Amino acid sequence: MTQNCSMVLGLEIHMQLKTDSKMFCGCKNDPFFSDANTNVCPVCMGLPGAMPIPNLNAIKSAQIFSNALGAKLQTKIIYERKNYFYPDLPKGFQLTCPHNPIAVGGSLSGINFREIHLEEDTAKSIHTGDLTLIDFNKSGVPLLEIVTEPDFTDIDEAVEFCKEIQLIVRYLGISEADMEKGNMRLEANISVRKLGQKELPNYRVEMKNINSFSFMKKALQYELRRQSGALTVGEKLVQETRGFNETTGKTFTQRSKEEANDYRYFPEPDIPIIEIDEKWMNEITTRKILLPSELRTQLKEKGLNDQYVLRLVGDFSLYEKYLAVLDLGYSPSESANFVVNISEYKEKSPSEIDKIEKSKRSSKISNESVLLPIVETVVNKNLKVVSDYKSGNTSAMQFLIGQVMKSTQGKADAQIVASMLAKLLP
Ligand code: ADP
Ligand code: MG
Ligand code: ZN
Repeated sequence: MTQNCSMVLGLEIHMQLKTDSKMFCGCKNDPFFSDANTNVCPVCMGLPGAMPIPNLNAIKSAQIFSNALGAKLQTKIIYERKNYFYPDLPKGFQLTCPHNPIAVGGSLSGINFREIHLEEDTAKSIHTGDLTLIDFNKSGVPLLEIVTEPDFTDIDEAVEFCKEIQLIVRYLGISEADMEKGNMRLEANISVRKLGQKELPNYRVEMKNINSFSFMKKALQYELRRQSGALTVGEKLVQETRGFNETTGKTFTQRSKEEANDYRYFPEPDIPIIEIDEKWMNEITTRKILLPSELRTQLKEKGLNDQYVLRLVGDFSLYEKYLAVLDLGYSPSESANFVVNISEYKEKSPSEIDKIEKSKRSSKISNESVLLPIVETVVNKNLKVVSDYKSGNTSAMQFLIGQVMKSTQGKADAQIVASMLAKLLP
């Protein structure tokens, strides 16, 4: 960045929620794996007169997320029609709740949220040759949108923020947030101002369709250079939507302000105002949810290594399994080892793991008089290794222990074998 200006950056993050059914109809929410146009009905195909019915589970997921991040849940949610035309939106409007959203405020890593709302996804356009085909499986999938304040001052900070949001929704189990599958989509708004300028620039450049973190970083770095350069030489910067060409590494104008949409929002007449009563509200707000960052600190304090922490924080169900194993009396690192590393335990429940562990432990051979003949046989059969050991090769000892383990099918107590060998081979 040139030294005389600073960056202003705000994000809009969209994530498909992992509900059974879609946002306003009973169709299966499975946009990625189903055959095209199999999860469809008059509502999500936008046929005239079809009646939308809000998915309360989707609203709850959005509220759980919002509450975990300290956002204020709203008692009234109002769905409105956002009118625009596009082939993937044949009914001519998208249902969303921009003015009376799910929640307002809240923050993460010092970045404030403006609002969190829940809308319906559009259908998917597939371009093949001269044709554009539309798959409606994605139409009407619940889409969570987080809008931040323009609080970011650093591109890497924004990328880390998105990764943390991804981690949180996965951890909460509400979205797969897979960028490659399009479960998670990012929009970045960026502008620059002179150092010391307090007010926000009177324009912003919107970058849409960012489909990977590295794409986001490259596109924003280019845009920052372009805008800083323009500001430095006194060129006027304008409000517009820009795309990023990965081949050229440059951004380009897609839509300027003059062509900007006027969405003519108005309340959806077929969906009454959704009022969240006290009981519902309490059900969500009284649950204290540990954020991944807090969980990370807690697990590190328990002495778990980085590999364990990474795995447990990234997968809430694995973490729950870890807790259940811990409850059975195993130490934190034993429990983490069982659920993270041991493939045999992957499909096993905590009580099954406990059973197997107990039987392994009880069948261990730790009786020295039973082990002695086996240890002696191994020594006699490996005289070359024994002399290596005597001349200072410490890995020779590991080999001998390994041979004893092998001839006992892994049942010998390795520690006892080690001390017997040490006594036997002075
Ligand atoms: P709306 O979508 O209602 O027009 P805004 O334009 O205020 O709302 O904000 C949309 C997004 O753009 C938000 O994420 C916000 O943080 C960001 N934003 C707003 N102003 C700027 C700016 N001058 N520079 C960069 N980002 C901005
Ligand atoms: Mg917007
Ligand atoms: Zn449907």
